[in-house]
Amino acid sequence: MAKHDRTVNVGPYEAGDSRAAVCPHCEILVDSTFVSQEDGLLVAVCDVCGQLVGIASQSQPLELRIEFYEGGHGAIPDESALMCVVEGYCFPYGRPLFELFEEAVRVLDLCRDKYAAPNMVGTFLTVRISRKWRETVNTLLARLDVRIANGMAEARIFGATLPQYETNRSLVVDEDHNVVTIVADILRSLP
Ligand SMILES: [Zn+2]
Repeated sequence: MAKHDRTVNVGPYEAGDSRAAVCPHCEILVDSTFVSQEDGLLVAVCDVCGQLVGIASQSQPLELRIEFYEGGHGAIPDESALMCVVEGYCFPYGRPLFELFEEAVRVLDLCRDKYAAPNMVGTFLTVRISRKWRETVNTLLARLDVRIANGMAEARIFGATLPQYETNRSLVVDEDHNVVTIVADILRSLP
């Protein structure tokens, strides 16, 4: 397809494909180019300003899947230790994509069953954040190893697709809160 053919463009798109789009930043019709992100999303960026203008239709919906496991810590959690799962996505049209942890906080805050989520059992909690990919494949994006004792949560946070990302957080938590609320508070505390 010619780069400037604006009449037939139904996808599925591939990285490098061009598409005309109205850029919310430039506020005019521009050419955009699809690029693959680390998290598997195929997004269109404005050729003029480089900002996000859309997402490939075949990439949607791409929910975050946030799994809470009792115990763990370093080991691959056993399915029998699965406490609960939260799924959802927040896609900010016309603005840059949320950073992963910001999106995860929003998904956890929006979780309809938040108040039915289980409380901590024991001291350790493992959280896996992945992106659902075409309903079947999960791409693991990050893992949190959380230890909660004496009202303090200590979390080691690893970025699975960002191997250089590893941080430790320590914050006061209400141990009576459920795991969804506690993990949202931990992620919210990240810089
Ligand atoms: Zn633009």
